[in-house]
Formats: sequence, structure tokens, C-alpha cells
Amino acid sequence: MSAAFAATSLGVTFKTLKPLIRYDLFTDPWTTRFDLNAPFGIDDMIYATDCKILISHPGRDDRGTEDRRVPKVGNLPWNEFDSSGWKPLGSPDLVVRTDHYRDNGHCCSVCFGLGRVGSNVVRCPDCHGRSEWVDEDANEVFDGCEKCRVGYVGGPICTHCERGWVNGPTIEERIIGSPRRFGTGMMARIRTLGDLEYRVVEGEGANDETSLLLFRGDHGIRGIACSMAAQ
Ligand SMILES: [Zn+2]
Ligand SMILES: [Zn+2]
Repeated sequence: MSAAFAATSLGVTFKTLKPLIRYDLFTDPWTTRFDLNAPFGIDDMIYATDCKILISHPGRDDRGTEDRRVPKVGNLPWNEFDSSGWKPLGSPDLVVRTDHYRDNGHCCSVCFGLGRVGSNVVRCPDCHGRSEWVDEDANEVFDGCEKCRVGYVGGPICTHCERGWVNGPTIEERIIGSPRRFGTGMMARIRTLGDLEYRVVEGEGANDETSLLLFRGDHGIRGIACSMAAQ
């Protein structure tokens, strides 16, 4: 009998020491500027980012970053985490965008755009999340990886969307304290981190049209996410 099972059967609640983070939701294997296909560790902190959301928490990653191009996380506004004015991040307050500048649908807020649901979802080993297969002889790329159909494997196909996307008007999230709107898929991914508090920092400077959403939670989780550009 495992220790965990014994503790459960005695009715003991125990807190995990490490945060349960689906890092796959916060990394980006496709960016060309950085190597962000996995989390990285700097100075006893673990970071993961797709350049839109960055999350961090205390921990060690001994793989090192010497051979990887990672963002300069020291330049981020960490001092803003010491300020007051934090609020609990509650349920989403969704608004329909009226200008439809982007009318090709939006990220499914059930599967976060992965097209599959469950805690075991990982990138498809055949197509690496692209849901494409490449015929190298014909030098052609075809839509729809036969192994995964959606780019990911490991859980049932999401029934709320078409391969992670929902057609219809663009829906965004409104956050008290910010004039900007935030992407629903991004906010759904952030909410997988558990109960969070947030505060908003307005971008400064002539061409800064975004707000930064700062969030923090259990296990020393701290994160920064960008709003959508001003309308
Ligand atoms: Zn979905
Ligand atoms: Zn695949």
C-alpha cells in the first residue's frame, strides 16, 4: 500500500509540496525568438512562458539555461508584486467583442485550445501539437495528423469545440481594474493554477497599449500575462 493511499484512507488531507502545473499549457515549442518548449530554472526559481503568459514558482531545474535562449526574466516588474491592491480572481466576466476584427473564432475555454480534455494531455509525439503530417517526398503538409486528430494525445477529444477552436463572435474577459480585455483561452489556462489573486499594471509609454495582469497563488506561484491590445 502506498503512503499516499494510506493517508487518503485515514481521511488525512495533505498538501502537495510542489505545485501541480500542466506546463504544457504555458510553454511554446514554435517560437523562433526563444527556446520555450519546456520550463527553465534560474536562481532557484522555475519559469515557463509562451511569451503571452509567464509563470514562476520556487524550485530547482538543474538542466541549466546556457544552451537555451530564454527571456530575461530579471527585467520583468517583479517589484509590483510587493504593492497592495490584490483581488481574488473569481469567475470570468465575459464580453462579446463588437468590432469582429478577428472573426475566425476563439480558443475553446473547456480544453484551452488543445482539442482534448483531461490531466494527461500532452503534445502528440508524431506532429508535436501541430496536427499536421508532412509528406517529405512530395514536399507537402497535410492537415489532420492521423494519430491525434487535434495535435494532442492522452485524453478524450473535447466535445465543445472543433480542434480547440469555437466558431462565433470573439469573446473576451473583462477584469475589474483594467480598461483592456483578456483572451479567454489565456485566462482559462491561468485558472488551472488554482485559487489566485491578481492586480493590474497599466503599460507605460507612448506605444504601450496593453495592461499587465499579475497573479499569485499557492506554492509561491507568481505570473504575468498581457492583455489584448487596445481596441
Ligand atoms: Zn475544446
Ligand atoms: Zn499528431
